Order: sequence, then C-alpha cells, then structure tokens
Amino acid sequence: MKFKVAVALLITSFCCLSAAAQKPEKAPPQKPNAEIQKMIKEVSAKNIEATILKLVSFGTRNTLSSQTDPNRGIGAARDWIYGQFQQISKDCGGCLDVEKQTFVQPKANRIPEPTTLTNVYAVLKGTTDPDRVYVVSGHYDSMCNLNATDITCDAPGANDDGSGTAASIELARVMSKYKFDATIIFMTVPGEEQGLDGSTYFAKDAAAKKMHIEAMFDNDIIGGVTTYKNAPDRQSIRVFSEGVPSNETTQEANTRRSVGGENDSPSRQLARYVKEMDDIYLPKFKAVMIYRRDRYGRGGDHIPFLENGYAAVRFTEPHEDYTHQHQSVKMVDGKQYGDLPEFVDYEYIANATRVNLVALANLALAPAKPRNVIIQTSGLTNDTVLKWDANKDADLAGYEVVWRDTTSPVWTNSTFVGNVTTYTAKEMSKDNYFFGLRAVDKDGNKSPVVYPRPGR
Ligand SMILES: [Zn+2]
Repeated sequence: MKFKVAVALLITSFCCLSAAAQKPEKAPPQKPNAEIQKMIKEVSAKNIEATILKLVSFGTRNTLSSQTDPNRGIGAARDWIYGQFQQISKDCGGCLDVEKQTFVQPKANRIPEPTTLTNVYAVLKGTTDPDRVYVVSGHYDSMCNLNATDITCDAPGANDDGSGTAASIELARVMSKYKFDATIIFMTVPGEEQGLDGSTYFAKDAAAKKMHIEAMFDNDIIGGVTTYKNAPDRQSIRVFSEGVPSNETTQEANTRRSVGGENDSPSRQLARYVKEMDDIYLPKFKAVMIYRRDRYGRGGDHIPFLENGYAAVRFTEPHEDYTHQHQSVKMVDGKQYGDLPEFVDYEYIANATRVNLVALANLALAPAKPRNVIIQTSGLTNDTVLKWDANKDADLAGYEVVWRDTTSPVWTNSTFVGNVTTYTAKEMSKDNYFFGLRAVDKDGNKSPVVYPRPGR
C-alpha cells in the first residue's frame, strides 16, 4: 500500500508526463509461473540431507587430500559428485553435459606443491539462446582449522560448503526436468579454501573464451545453523552484492565520481532481481540484500567472476556460528566444535536453494539484458533520452524503463515502453533520478535492469 501511495505521489508530481511516449501499452504482467511453482515444491530437504551426509562421510575434502583413495579425501568426493550429475542426466534422458574441468594449480601460499584440481559441473543447455549462461556454484572442498594445508584432520564441511554443493546438485536434479531459453551450469569447485582456485580457473577460462555469463550465484555457508533455529531470521538469507564493479575501468570510475552510480553495478541489479523474484514466489523466506561484496575479512567464489567482468552475488545464512566453521572437530568444556551435520538445518537449506531456483529459472526464461544502453548526455535538456540495441529474443514483448529517486536503494517506478530502441522521459531530468532499462518477454518474464552509461 505504502508503495502505491509513493508511486501515485511521484506520478502526480510529474505534471508534464504528457507526450505520446509517456502513454505506453501495458507490460505483460509478471504472473507467478506455474512451472516454477512446481519446481519450488520439488526441492527436497531429504535429498539435500543425503548429499551432505555423503559429503561428510569422505572424512576430509581438503583440496590437498588424497585424489585416489576411494573412501577418504577430495578425490572420492569429486568422483561421487560426478556420478550424481551423471545419474541426474540419465534420469532426464541425457539432458545434461557433465564435465570434469581438470587443471594443475601452481605452488602458492596454501598450495605447497603443484596440485591437480577438478571443477565438476553439469550443463543444461538453453533451447533458444544457449550462448547466454547462468552459473550456480558451491565449493566441495573443506578445511578443518585455520591451517588450510592440514590434510590429516577430519574436515566434515557440512555447512562450509556441503550446503552450497548440495544446492547445486539439487538444483540440477529439479531444473533438468524443465526447459529454459538460456543455459544453466550447475557447478561445484575445489580449492576455495586454498584461495578461490577452482572458481578462478573457471572464470578466467570463461572470460578467455568470451563466454557470455549473465549471472553467477555463489552459495557458501547456507546451512542455517541449528544453534539459531529459533531466531526470527531463520526465515531469511543474505544476498551480498558489490556496488562498484571489481573490473571498473578508469573512465568508468571518473563517470561514477561525477554523476554517481556506485549503487548500480550489474551485480547490484542482480541482487535486486533476486529479491524481486523472492518476493513474488517465496514471500515467507526473505532475500535480504547486503550492499557489500562480502563479509569483513572473507571472500568467496563469486569474486573471480566479478574480477572477470561477470555479475555475481553471494548467498550466506544471516547468522554464522564460528564454532562450526574452519574448526577441528573437538569438545572443549562440554562445547562441540567443528562443521558437523547436526549443526545444519536441511529445511533451511531447501529454502535457500529455492531462492536460487526462482531467480535462476526466471533469468533463464526471460530475455537477455538489453545491450549498449545509454543515457544521452549531448545538449542541456530536462528530458531524459535512453537508447539501446534491439534484443534478438524471438519472444520479446518490449522494454520497461525503471527509475527511482537517487536516494532510494531499490527501483520504485516503471513504465512499459513497447518494442522500441529509444525512449524519452519528458520533463524528467536525468540529474534528478536514476534510470534503468530491462527487457520483457510475452509471458511477462523480465531481465535484470541495466544501468545506462552516458553516451550520445
Ligand atoms: Zn566456504
């Protein structure tokens, strides 16, 4: 209700929205998609539990642990995950390409000697736009204490990051039964605790191949520790997004210092998108946006993607319990330490997985983000002119222009402008609002917003 009043006030205050361009046809409404609602129900806490217990059973998944022991160590985990993806693919008639991306990580701070690492992932190819890719990832390696090179200790890694690994596998299982316009990669990586090694290799390789990854989701510590079971925010997950792009150029930085935009990176738009979809499909389980790249002193597998120019966000539970992270399994004064399965909450992980699902499904069903969106800066005028390249999506309905006050954290207003490549907001100065643009298909599926750069 509050929102409606605000919109009404804004519209009244724009006395001069009178030009023909201001009377667009209506956007197809974004109705909850029945297939996505079905997928939500298919996410199983029981499956997630079985995956995590299996991962824990390998004793340690330290990146430096045995690659050949069939029962203990990272090699056993790698092969088991690969087998899971293969089974899922078999169940959908071979719909997934299951890959092992193996490489040698050179000696580094937490890599005492060159070590073979293997990213394991499954690709669900898009039907109409297979070159547009979305990646969802968790890391399957673990560590037991602050010494990441200790390979003898038990490192159950139920939450960090058995939870994110289980989410990738469960999403593959559920989503592989459906078809999407764009491609989805369900990924699990090693070497996170050694220095984001698996994700760095994948992201660099993708950038070198000019892979068009429109968004990456990193699930790391989404276990919702049971020690906080009764906390009210058991019903929420944090979505971390950077404000200023990690790969910002000097010229972009100069523009940002001049006219703002530090709150409008592609990753921030992605976080807003996740929240919008979560609000539509999972109103009882909140996606809480955190306007920072990651927590203090911490990092994750989204960062190499950001550094290679891809939009990415990190999902993490709202309250972390540090007695169960990067700790050896031990009892001290009657208190249990270690990342053990009894401290994760499978129903919570299922909900966190569902947040990923609704956003991923909508992204992969929606048109691509509009490209080369510019806000015209030639000449002094109180009109705002936006221009962009035409999308190639066959099911495109048109575009939606969004705007907000410069002090607002989220987009508050929108108008559908039809299937055009330019739009003039009359008597709405670009100096007074932030504008953005998104593509909309005939079913009402929307792309994330693109924040325009200045142009002519
Ligand atoms: Zn982690």
